[in-house]
Amino acid sequence: MEYLPIFLDVKDQPCLVVGGGEIALRKVASLHRAGAAITLVSPDLADALEQQRAQGVFVHERRAFREQDIQGRRLVIAATDQREVNRQVADLAKTHGIPVNVVDQPEDCSFIMPSVIDRSPVIVAVSTGAASPVLARLIRTRLESLVPAAYGRLGELCARYRERVKQRFSDQRDRRRFWDRVLQGGVAERVFSGHLAEADAAMERELAHANPSPGMGEVYLVGAGPGDPDLVTFRALRLMQQADVVVYDRLVAQPILDMVRRDARRVYVGKERDNHAMRQEEINRLLARLAKEGHRVLRLKGGDPFIFGRGGEEIDTLAAEGVPFQVVPGITAASGCATYTGIPLTHRDYAQSVTFVTGHLKDGTMNLNWEQLAQPSQTVVFYMGLVGLPIIIEKLIEHGVSPDMPIALVQQGTTHKQRVFTGTLRTILEIVEQDRPKPPTLVIVCRVVELQEKLSWFTVPEHSDRGATTPVLPGS
Ligand code: SAH
Repeated sequence: MEYLPIFLDVKDQPCLVVGGGEIALRKVASLHRAGAAITLVSPDLADALEQQRAQGVFVHERRAFREQDIQGRRLVIAATDQREVNRQVADLAKTHGIPVNVVDQPEDCSFIMPSVIDRSPVIVAVSTGAASPVLARLIRTRLESLVPAAYGRLGELCARYRERVKQRFSDQRDRRRFWDRVLQGGVAERVFSGHLAEADAAMERELAHANPSPGMGEVYLVGAGPGDPDLVTFRALRLMQQADVVVYDRLVAQPILDMVRRDARRVYVGKERDNHAMRQEEINRLLARLAKEGHRVLRLKGGDPFIFGRGGEEIDTLAAEGVPFQVVPGITAASGCATYTGIPLTHRDYAQSVTFVTGHLKDGTMNLNWEQLAQPSQTVVFYMGLVGLPIIIEKLIEHGVSPDMPIALVQQGTTHKQRVFTGTLRTILEIVEQDRPKPPTLVIVCRVVELQEKLSWFTVPEHSDRGATTPVLPGS
C-alpha cells in the first residue's frame, strides 16, 4: 500500500484552503461536509464560492497567501492555479508538520483525497493513489449502485443501538454474530424499504430474544475455484465474508484469500505433495472442534471440494459428530484450465466423453484402468499428474494410444501466471525437461488439444504476478 487510508475528524478544526477557483470549491465542499472550520485565502473568488461565503461556509481572507496563514491549522489544501504558490504552501505546511494536499500535484502532497461515496455515517472512500483519479471515480460509480442510499439509514440504526447491544452481549463474538444477523436479515430489509418504525420494532424483538451463548457453529466447505478470483461463486463470497475462521491450503490463491473477512482467523493446513502441514485426520478433527466452539468455519479449497479435494472425508467427520455444514461447489481445475486455454473438454468430432482421473503416484505407481483411459474419442484429464507424467505416457502408449496424440500441460491455469505447454505423447517429456512447468499443473490428453492455438483467448498480462496460486513448490 502506497498510502494509509484513514478517516480524519476535522469537526470545528481550523482548516485552510488557498485558492478561490473551481478546484478550491470542491475541496471546500468536502471540508464543509465534514464540519471543518474553514478559512479560505484568495485575492478573488469564483461566483459559486462567493455564494458559499455569503452563507458562512468559510471565512474569506481577500488577499494573497502569507506565511502566517499556515499557523495553527490542522489541515491545509493548496488549490491555486499557480504551481509555485501551491508548492510554497506545501513546503511551509510540511515544515510545520501539518498535513497538506496539493490539488493535482501528488508529489507535493502529504495526503491525498479519495473519491467518496457518502452514505453518512457510512463512507466509502476509493483511491488509486496518484495513478488515475478517473479510474477511482469510475470505481466509485460502480460502488454507488452496490451501496444503496439506505445504507446511511442502516448505519444510523447501528449507531442508535450500539450501546445497548454492547451491554446485552459482553462477548465480542456474540455481538458480531448478533449484528451479522440483524444486518443481513429482516431488520435491514425493513430499513431498505423505508419502514423505519417497523425496523425498530424488529430490532427490539431481536434484542429481547437473542441467545447470547454461542452454541454450535457451522462449517462451510467452499470451493474457491482454480485461481482467478472472478471465478468464485456469489455464495462462496458471501460465506467468505461471514466466517470467523478460515482453514485453507496451498491451492488457494492469495487474491482469493484477500476476499475473506479481514479479521477472520487464518489457519494454514498445508498440503503440498509429501509435506502436509497437517494430516487429513487432524484437519477433519480441527474443523469439528472449531465449529463446536461456536465458530463459523470456512474450509476453503482450491477448485471444487468434491473433486480430488477430500471434501467428502471432511464432512463425513462433521456429519458423524452432528456438526452442521454446507458445501459450495467451485469451478474445478479441469473446467477452469480448459476454458482459459481454449481446449473444449468435449467436442462433437473428437471427444464424446471426458474423464477426470488422479495421476497421483502411490508407491511409485498409478493404479488406473489404462484400458479404459486409452479408448479413443474421449478427453482424459489428469489431476496431480506432473510428477508421474513419464508413467502416464508410457502406460497410454502401452495400451494403444498413438504417440502422436496431442497433450497439454496447463500450469497455474486461470491465474496471471498461467502457462500452457503443448506437444504429443512423444515430445512432451522433452518440453517438460526444457521448460520445467511448476505445480499446480493439469494434464489434458485428447485431439481437442489441437484446437488450442485457434481458440485460446486468455492472455497473461505482462509484468504481472498477481492472481497467482500461492507458493511454487516442488512436486504436484
Ligand atoms: N479440488 C481441486 C483439485 C485438487 S487436486 C479442483 O477441483 O480443481 C490438485 C491438482 O489439481 C493439482 O495437482 C493440479 O493438477 C490441479 N490444479 C488445481 N488448480 C490448478 C490450476 N490453477 N492450474 C492447473 N492445475 C490445477
